[in-house]
Amino acid sequence: MSEHQIRSLLQKYQVGLKREFGQTFLLNKQIARTIVKHANIMPSDTVLEIGPGLGVLTSILIRTGAKIILIEIEPGLVRALRDIFENAENLKIIQGDALEVELPDASKIVSNLPYNVASQITFRLLSEMYFQCAVLMYQKEFADRLIANPGDSEFSRVSVNFQYQAIAEKIMGVKADEFYPVPAVDSTVLKIKQRKSGPKAKDDDIFHALVRGIFSYPNKYLRNALGIWLRNLGEPRQLADKILNQMDERLSETRPRSLKLSQIVGLADVLFELQQEGIIGSLKEE
Ligand code: SAM
Repeated sequence: MSEHQIRSLLQKYQVGLKREFGQTFLLNKQIARTIVKHANIMPSDTVLEIGPGLGVLTSILIRTGAKIILIEIEPGLVRALRDIFENAENLKIIQGDALEVELPDASKIVSNLPYNVASQITFRLLSEMYFQCAVLMYQKEFADRLIANPGDSEFSRVSVNFQYQAIAEKIMGVKADEFYPVPAVDSTVLKIKQRKSGPKAKDDDIFHALVRGIFSYPNKYLRNALGIWLRNLGEPRQLADKILNQMDERLSETRPRSLKLSQIVGLADVLFELQQEGIIGSLKEE
């Protein structure tokens, strides 16, 4: 779709672009084809697309013969999509907020996500759906954080929480000028699968509380980060040494930013045991 076509459709359907909806439209159809190709869609699939905009991905998805379900928040875009794809029998359009509407069952997800809610949408998809794969476009900086390795400067709480639930590979980078209007940032497309094996904590709530706690101090020594977090929870700070004594001794001088997922899970499991023994309390922040 050209800039001119996009502008005239937006005018026809009275869509005033809203910054908070991250409304920017992919111009390059070849990129759209590549994104869809990586989802390996079969006619037996049901594919969810969030934020279809003016349908650059949708038109390719429809041709796969799979059942396609769209969730789009902008009423004017929904009117446009209903007209553009009026003859498509394998298409269902849900008008609503992808953070609020009930998510449909789908085997695959393909979306150029609205960047401002990309994180919330991703974690919602991971926790509320079972899918074979998701091919999703993100703001480059956010994608870098999702797939960062321990020790990288981008490795943060969101990396740990994401990698606890998912594995992801980078498909390609997309420059900002492939969109109209041109956004301020470049993009990255990731292929994501839900993780079915690998480190898993005995108690997810403890794991998430620990990650929240120690990643408030990502660059401190783990002994200090753990100690401050425990003290803030009303526990004795020295408990950090007791916990670390049960782990590899080199860990206490590692920084949270360099911890492997398996090590964080190991720490969470020590906390779980201490909680079972009544040595520590609920680990809930006030
Ligand atoms: N897929 C189109 C493309 O690649 O050209 C548009 C992508 S644009 C980055 C994001 C789209 O998500 C817009 O159509 C916007 O209206 C929609 N959107 C924004 N927030 C949304 C939300 N919370 N739920 C559903 N759709 C949303």
